[in-house]
Amino acid sequence: MKIHEFQAKQIFRKYQVPTPNGGLALDSEKARQIASEIGHFPVVVKAQIHAGGRGKGGGVQLAQSLDEVCKHTEAIIGMNLVTHQTGPEGKIVKQVLVEAGVNIEKELYLSLIPDRETACILVIASEAGGMDIEEVAATTPEKIIKVHINPLSGIQPFHCRKVSFGLNLPSAVIKEFSQMLTRLYHLFIENDCSMVEINPLVITKENRVLALDAKMDFDDNALFRHKDLLEFRDLDEEDPLDVEASKYNLNYINLDGTVGNMVNGAGLAMAVMDTIKLAGAEPANFLDVGGGATAEMVENGFKIILSDDKVKAILINIFGGILRCDVLAKGVVEAARKTEIKVPLVVRMEGTNVEEGRRILAESGLDLFTADDMKSTGEIVAKIAAS
Ligand code: GDP
Ligand code: MN
Repeated sequence: MKIHEFQAKQIFRKYQVPTPNGGLALDSEKARQIASEIGHFPVVVKAQIHAGGRGKGGGVQLAQSLDEVCKHTEAIIGMNLVTHQTGPEGKIVKQVLVEAGVNIEKELYLSLIPDRETACILVIASEAGGMDIEEVAATTPEKIIKVHINPLSGIQPFHCRKVSFGLNLPSAVIKEFSQMLTRLYHLFIENDCSMVEINPLVITKENRVLALDAKMDFDDNALFRHKDLLEFRDLDEEDPLDVEASKYNLNYINLDGTVGNMVNGAGLAMAVMDTIKLAGAEPANFLDVGGGATAEMVENGFKIILSDDKVKAILINIFGGILRCDVLAKGVVEAARKTEIKVPLVVRMEGTNVEEGRRILAESGLDLFTADDMKSTGEIVAKIAAS
C-alpha cells in the first residue's frame, strides 16, 4: 500500500525525522492560511498524487507571495498531472501540500528497501540526488552507494558512517544525518515498510538535514498489524479493478495484455501467464483465486475480468484440489448468467470432480471452448485473442 507524501511526512514527524513545516490544502483559501502561518517565503505548493516526477510535470511550484500560493494551488488542484510514473493518462490532482521553502545547498538521494537476495535491509544513497536520479543510476551507477543492514543486529553506528562517508557529507552534518538514518531504519522496521524513499534529502545552507520529499510503501501482507496505517489508504489512487478485487480477497493485478485469466494458486497462475506469452499473446491480468476459493469468489473474479475493456478472450485454468471442479463450474455459470459475456471463453480444468464440472459446463448452454493440456490451452486463447 502506497501513501501520499503529506502522510509519509506525518509518520516522519512521529519518528522525529526532520521535514519542512506545512499542511494539506484542498483549496486556495486553506493554502493561503497555511502559507500565512508559515510566515516567510518562498513557500512550496506540491501536488499530492501517488507518483513521483511531479516536479518535472509541473506539480511542484515555488511561490513568493500569498497571491502566488493561491494562484499555484488553483492551477495544480484539478490538473491532470502526467509524470513518468503516472503513465500517459496522468492523474487528477485533488490536494496540495503547502510547505515552507528551504534554502537548498545540496540534494541527496536516500532510500531503504528489503533486499531479498541478502535478507538484509538495503540502504541506497547518492550525493547526486534530485529529479534526475533515474538518469544517474543508468549512466553513472558508481555514484549510487549501497549499505546492507542485517536485521538481526539492526542499524549500528558504522552503517551510518559508511553512508555518510559515501555521500561525502560535510562533517558538520554527519551527526544529524546519522541520527536521522537510525530513526528511518526504526520507522521502516516498525511499520513493515517495503520502501522508504527520500528524494531529495537536502542539506540546507544552514547545515540542516531535511526530508524534502517522502515516499512510503507498506507490505500489504503485514497491514493487519497496522490498523492505524489503513486510514492512509486512498482508493482513488489505486487501479479501480484492483480495488474491486481486494474487496473480495482476490489476488488480482491488472496488466496490459488482452487475455484475461483466472487461475487457482499463484504458481499455476504464473505458469499460465508464461503459456499465454509463449503462444504469442499477452495476459490482461494476474488473478489467483486461491486454493480454497468458493463459487462466489470465482464469480467475483470472473466479473472483474469481464469489466475490463481490453480483454479479448478469457482463459480459466483450475486445478481442482480444495476448490472442486464442480464448484468452479457453478461459479462460472452463475457469473456468466449475470453478466453478458462478449468475448470467447476457454476453460481448462482437472482434478477433483472434473467429470461433474464438465457436465455442468456442457449443460449450461454457454458458448465456450474447452482445452485439455496447458500447451493447447495457450494456443487456443492466443489464436482467439489475435483474431
Ligand atoms: P517529485 O518530483 O515528485 O519527486 O517531487 P519533489 O518533492 O522531489 O520536488 C521536486 C523538486 O522540487 C525537488 O527536487 C527540489 O528541487 C524542488 N523543491 C521542493 N521543495 C523545495 C523547496 O522547499 N525549496 C526549493 N528551492 N526547491 C524545492
Ligand atoms: Mn522527489
